[in-house]
Amino acid sequence: MTAPPPGLPAKLEHFIGGTHVASADGATFEVADPVTNQPYAAVAAGGPQDIDRAVAAAATAFTDGPWPQLPARQRAQILNKIADGIEARAAKIADLETFDTGLPVTQARGQAARAAENFRFFADLAVTLHEDAFRSGTAQFGYVIRKPAGVAGLITPWNTPFMLETWKLAPALAAGCPVVLKPAEWTPLSASLLPEIMTEAGLPDGVFNLVHGIGEVAGAALVAHPGVPRISFTGETSTGQTIMAAAAPHLKGLSMELGGKSPCVIFADADLDQALDSALFGVFSLNGERCTAGSRILAERAVYAPLVTRLAARAGRIRVGDPSDPGTEIGALVHPEHYARVLGYVQAGQDEGARLVAGGTRPSHLTAGNYLAATVFADVTPSMRIFREEIFGPVVCVTPFDDEAEAVALANDTAYGLAAYIWTRDLARAHRVAHAVEAGMTWINSHNVRDLRTPFGGVKASGLGREGGPHSLDFYTESRIVHVPLADTHVPRFGA
Ligand code: NAD
Repeated sequence: MTAPPPGLPAKLEHFIGGTHVASADGATFEVADPVTNQPYAAVAAGGPQDIDRAVAAAATAFTDGPWPQLPARQRAQILNKIADGIEARAAKIADLETFDTGLPVTQARGQAARAAENFRFFADLAVTLHEDAFRSGTAQFGYVIRKPAGVAGLITPWNTPFMLETWKLAPALAAGCPVVLKPAEWTPLSASLLPEIMTEAGLPDGVFNLVHGIGEVAGAALVAHPGVPRISFTGETSTGQTIMAAAAPHLKGLSMELGGKSPCVIFADADLDQALDSALFGVFSLNGERCTAGSRILAERAVYAPLVTRLAARAGRIRVGDPSDPGTEIGALVHPEHYARVLGYVQAGQDEGARLVAGGTRPSHLTAGNYLAATVFADVTPSMRIFREEIFGPVVCVTPFDDEAEAVALANDTAYGLAAYIWTRDLARAHRVAHAVEAGMTWINSHNVRDLRTPFGGVKASGLGREGGPHSLDFYTESRIVHVPLADTHVPRFGA
């Protein structure tokens, strides 16, 4: 096994108002890496007092600071410098991320590159942003002014933490909102690089604040804080429900990016070689800990049996191992608790009568660490838990269908609606099915490649609201309309 990355900090602190600080009460929690499951650092455990301090710093930056008023070009320059800072540290970010999350290092490198691109993209968008105007004939004219909404609370999960943190930070900062970021408690490491990146780029103190801590404590305090009008959350659906309820008394603006159980529908006329590559990559990349994973493969009966055979053979050859080894395709699952949960689903699949055709166990050469071989279940029926519930690990279900109508019915037979993948050479059918499948994002004959301008988000239990491009900027700003007459104003003369 490779050594921990050089420069690994022994403690991680909050970053509030431009200063690294411990928790007000001195509390910490331990964080471990998923290969040894041994603690490597003590992390400041934020509580309500720390959230109060961070929100106060952000509120001052909002009311007194230059950031919300800064011309877009100047704001964009700082966002681009943040991207430079990320790029300059890309290898280190990937190494820390791999160490902390267990993601294969080659995939973590891609995430670091995406993180920089998030800032460049929203820098570009900030300077091209315009405000609408409406003319009502010759009588009246209305124009929109867009204002930063205020302090934004950003709560992020442990899968691809750095990329998802920047995915929220970049648009919030581009819109002029100071932020309080609460990273996931299992993976706080890569976020610890953000303070120096932000400071070096020239972001004014108090605009970026970081509070570590347990979700039910630090995250809940951020959601309950009356000084935070926007909460952008990515995580489990059940957590999203808790957050929505907690935010309701304050009528906060919420963006909810939640769980998924996305179908990959393969018709018999598809390019089966490409469909196979895409189905495997779609569910086994990022250790299967991916919200948009195509975790239910639905295959037309005529190709079902050979496809199951090929899926099982390929899955059996997927290289599971040390995440820092560039040859590794599946690393270690993030935490022993999550590992146990995923293994519980493997057991449930067997108990409920699904046919295990690949994986299902720890690979024999890996005696410690949260490792699971790429796992394929065939003959999965919609009543089984592994068909219905998000597993968030390297486990895929395969289910046959007889015709298009059944394919759509199976695809939609889930509480979730995040992504869908459709493979067929019949383009009319591809579009028909894409429109019928209940998913926020559908890819036809392709895998999950994002265009940052497009709306990202789910329907049903997969979320509420859209992020990406102008959708993100809409979320972090308030649009206000100003009306002005173009001619004499005729007002009904009450009491005249
Ligand atoms: P999680 O819901 O357990 O935690 C996410 C974040 O919420 C963490 O920072 C956690 O500390 C915090 N949190 C927990 N309880 C809270 C509370 N009561 N109040 C405020 N904050 C609280 O999710 P996870 O296990 O870290 O992440 C995996 C989940 O995220 C999966 O369901 C996955 O599908 C989803 N996800 C969705 C997307 C998307 O864009 N739709 C992307 C990535 C991950």
